[in-house]
Amino acid sequence: MKLATFTAGERPCVGLVDDEGRVRTLRGVLGDAPLIEVIERWEELGPLIATASGLPVVDAPRLLAPIPQPRRNLFAVGKNYRDHVREFGRSGYDTPDRNVDLPSRPVVFSKATTSVTGPFDDIDAHPGVTSELDHEAELAVIIGPGGRGIPRERALAHVWGYTVLNDVTARDLQRDHGQWLLGKSLDTFAPMGPWAVTADEIGDPARLEVTSSVNGRPRQKASVADLIFDVPELISVISSGITLLPGDVIATGTPAGVGIGFDPPRFLRPGDTVECAVSGIGTIRNTVRAGTG
Ligand code: MG
Repeated sequence: MKLATFTAGERPCVGLVDDEGRVRTLRGVLGDAPLIEVIERWEELGPLIATASGLPVVDAPRLLAPIPQPRRNLFAVGKNYRDHVREFGRSGYDTPDRNVDLPSRPVVFSKATTSVTGPFDDIDAHPGVTSELDHEAELAVIIGPGGRGIPRERALAHVWGYTVLNDVTARDLQRDHGQWLLGKSLDTFAPMGPWAVTADEIGDPARLEVTSSVNGRPRQKASVADLIFDVPELISVISSGITLLPGDVIATGTPAGVGIGFDPPRFLRPGDTVECAVSGIGTIRNTVRAGTG
């Protein structure tokens, strides 16, 4: 099933997205419970949602990120598609120098919770902070049952669902500060949605395709099967010493075709609209605006 977080003028709540793409409110079933609580109580609430009937269609809902306020930073993975490793290495934006070698272990970083924004909200260009804004379309994993030391053979049992995430990046901050947190974490740098799709509806995430476009022109296109470190491996590696919690988000990495893959780079400018999509999930669309913050 597809579950969205939306508002229609009142407090945000969770809705079920039907086959026609309409949002049906679950307020009568879940009250004001945020999706993160629904995920925590999934064994109890999942069957209630699955058997609910006569759910009212919401008129003109405003979709928010499925998890608008994560409990802690988003996990994210860098350099996880071969062609993107090469374009990133060649660009000179990697640190400490031009490095086109494939990583031998996953490159994991995090994005601040305050970077999360809605699937159709504007991306703040942050003029004065960055002048090298870039997009990264990604499949994001949402953790269900938490755990530590999760073996890869059991990893997919810890996935509650999936969503689409644009890992917006300030390339100048990423390069100049010698780490990735700042360049990845500015406010509005994690548009997410348009909803979450439960793991049972996706099955094997490797069959999904990630794409993006800027102003309608295709930029990225890859199969999730091309990940260097696949979803089970990422869960196994991250959970080896960190307890994963229900509602944790893991952005799995971006394919080739980002702005710094071009020579000269094609950075995003105010007025540009970026679409990021994952097959079987949906499309998010965000326009860059100067000074939205
Ligand atoms: Mg990324």
